[in-house]
Amino acid sequence: MKMKLGQRCNCTNPECGCGVIVARTSEFEGASNPRCCCSSVMKKPNVRPISRWNSHRLATTDRL
Ligand SMILES: [Zn+2]
Repeated sequence: MKMKLGQRCNCTNPECGCGVIVARTSEFEGASNPRCCCSSVMKKPNVRPISRWNSHRLATTDRL
């Protein structure tokens, strides 16, 4: 996965919830996603279906 400067990556493990921001880019493009300290894969938040679920839950809270 090619990393961009300032790009956020979140851990896919919901029990971990770790997030990182890229502070320095690399020319090396690995075949797989970076991994978290908990050994789960880290992904961009916009490709995670769970982030859509979270925004839906926030919208529900606003109505209360
Ligand atoms: Zn993690």
